[in-house]
Amino acid sequence: MRIVDIRETAVPLKSTLRNAVFDFSEMTTSVVAVITDVVRDGKPVAGFAFNSTGRYACGAQMRDRFIPRIMKAPPDSLLNKAGDNFDPEKILACMMQREKPGGHTERSVAIGTIEVAVWDAVAKIAGKPLHRVLAETYNGGKVIDKVPCYVGGGWYQPGKGIRELQDEIKSRLDQGYTTMKIKVGGATIPDDVERVEAALKIVASSANLAVDANAGFDRERALAYAKALAPYKLRWFEEPTDPLDYALLTEVAAIYDAPIGTGENLFSTQDVHNLIRFGGLRADRDIIQTDVPQSYGIAQFARTLEMLKQNGWDRRSVFPHGGNQMTLAIVGGFGLGGCEAYPGVFGVFAGFADDAQVENGYLTLPQRPGIGFEAQNHLYAVMHELVAV
Ligand code: MG
Repeated sequence: MRIVDIRETAVPLKSTLRNAVFDFSEMTTSVVAVITDVVRDGKPVAGFAFNSTGRYACGAQMRDRFIPRIMKAPPDSLLNKAGDNFDPEKILACMMQREKPGGHTERSVAIGTIEVAVWDAVAKIAGKPLHRVLAETYNGGKVIDKVPCYVGGGWYQPGKGIRELQDEIKSRLDQGYTTMKIKVGGATIPDDVERVEAALKIVASSANLAVDANAGFDRERALAYAKALAPYKLRWFEEPTDPLDYALLTEVAAIYDAPIGTGENLFSTQDVHNLIRFGGLRADRDIIQTDVPQSYGIAQFARTLEMLKQNGWDRRSVFPHGGNQMTLAIVGGFGLGGCEAYPGVFGVFAGFADDAQVENGYLTLPQRPGIGFEAQNHLYAVMHELVAV
């Protein structure tokens, strides 16, 4: 049993969206295929992943270092004890050879994307959906069939006013979602407060509305937004500051009583540890938003969860970044708080299986072996091209 090839390509997101800080006109993502010599249903098993949303494609690191390290390793050194499947922990360790500790993002996205593609192959070889494999490996075998799912939306777009924002939220509620997150920080405070009040009218409860500032505020604006938004007691206030600005985050938390969400722009267990120790965050309410494929992948994420647990944080406080099938499997498998969705944005990289069901704020977990990209037609066409050549 061996990995016969690992292929990657960079694909543009082709999005016209903008958050408070930047637009997505140049955004790309790396798509990866890990091709094995294991045959299922008459075809070699290939595992797929992409590097989620918001960090650019990282093919150079993959081609120069991580793919060659895996391909050079003795095939048996990458297998589990029984020798009947690949061992993602060993493949992670193989990729980390000769890497200097610290300074994570240059490699964490490339490594994490390959690692998640390995898990897709592992689950396909086992003949199980990935969420089931993860539940058996990391959550005492607690297999569930649906997870809470909220919509990350409310982007700024040319010509989009209050009415269009409300229409967007209404259309998501009509699809079966109950909770919505909208962007803030791309307008003035009075304008954004008006947007929040207009959104609250549609979702009916402050528990069903979150806001996301995308880490773009300086000190003055972060504190001013915290003061302006605090009375609304929203589901959470996401990235009021750069997640590494522990001093400012602590100041924000001191005047913002409702939950704060952050962590999608932290890429290691150590950074999340520092965040909860020194960032003024509160285990009883705040939300951690690690993006797993961007943070060394699933095996490392299990260590982050263990670290959180040792510090008194429940895994239901974790809502990973990235509205995609990988995150869905991870949320279901580990039993996390919930999953994000971006219906209709980020092109082929948005969303879930074409037949995914949303009902009353819950999304059903796929039952096909692996992550289930095969049931996401437009995205799978991109992935399949990597294997077909
Ligand atoms: Mg965000």
